[in-house]
Amino acid sequence: MQLVSEIPQLRELRREWQVQSKVIAFVPTMGNLHQGHLNLVREAKRHADVVVVSIFVNPMQFGPDEDLDAYPRTLPNDAKLLQELGVDVLFAPKVCDMYARGLEQQTFVEVPGISYMICGASRPGHFRGVATIVCKLFNMVQPNLAFFGEKDFQQLQVIKAMVTDLSMNLKVFGVPTTRENDGLAMSSRNQYLDPAQRALAPVLYSKLQELNAAIVKGRRDYTNLVNACKTELAEQGFKPDYIEIRAADSLMPPSHEEKNLVILAAAFMGKTRLIDNIQIKL
Ligand code: AMP
Repeated sequence: MQLVSEIPQLRELRREWQVQSKVIAFVPTMGNLHQGHLNLVREAKRHADVVVVSIFVNPMQFGPDEDLDAYPRTLPNDAKLLQELGVDVLFAPKVCDMYARGLEQQTFVEVPGISYMICGASRPGHFRGVATIVCKLFNMVQPNLAFFGEKDFQQLQVIKAMVTDLSMNLKVFGVPTTRENDGLAMSSRNQYLDPAQRALAPVLYSKLQELNAAIVKGRRDYTNLVNACKTELAEQGFKPDYIEIRAADSLMPPSHEEKNLVILAAAFMGKTRLIDNIQIKL
């Protein structure tokens, strides 16, 4: 595996792969890798000749009061894990190279509508930061295929919309959420939880499963279901941010006939914001 931090070096490799007609898969991450990330890499390897993974903690997608400085940075260990999986290139650029003219003046990509709702409403500017960095990384790596986790379901939809709207020549794959044995969705942020919080955290997923079961049984009074779920989460020590039942494709509120649904949730456990979702096909 080559560790590349300079953009021109990546472009040079890209030129060589082009000559060899290689299929290139790309997995963008912020590092501190866990099995969720590694499963994206495994899936990427199944589809491509060359796998590029990026590690970049993107300042543009963090709000002013969020955890940019505290975000865990573990590049040596991440590199070891990726090497063991047979990744071809780990691209870990520097902030000053990615935002060469500074963040204030940075040109941005924004997918309207979908970026402003749900997580986007709680984290203004977040999806603008995500779309911009992913667009930049796509321009550097020029992958044929790109892999994203369904754990960040809205993010996946934002990226798919960007790729369609900007006629980008690549295919986006969503990979199912990897969970701990107790159901908690794996996340780099889980390590912020103290042992008592960690023990409670899987309740978020079990409450989503209960909502899922109620909808599959025929309940369509979504407002009642969501409100009861929020109350139960609060009783268990969470501070719910949102619970939403939406149409899976558009993320708009669903009609009662909608067959493809997603339940999306974010809740604070202490200072840690956990997100999760379940897709429902009726
Ligand atoms: P992050 O490093 O948190 O920006 O995540 C990088 C990629 O890994 C994103 O596409 C995430 O959706 C994906 N990812 C993170 N956690 C998981 C998980 N538990 N299961 C599947 N994909 C994940």
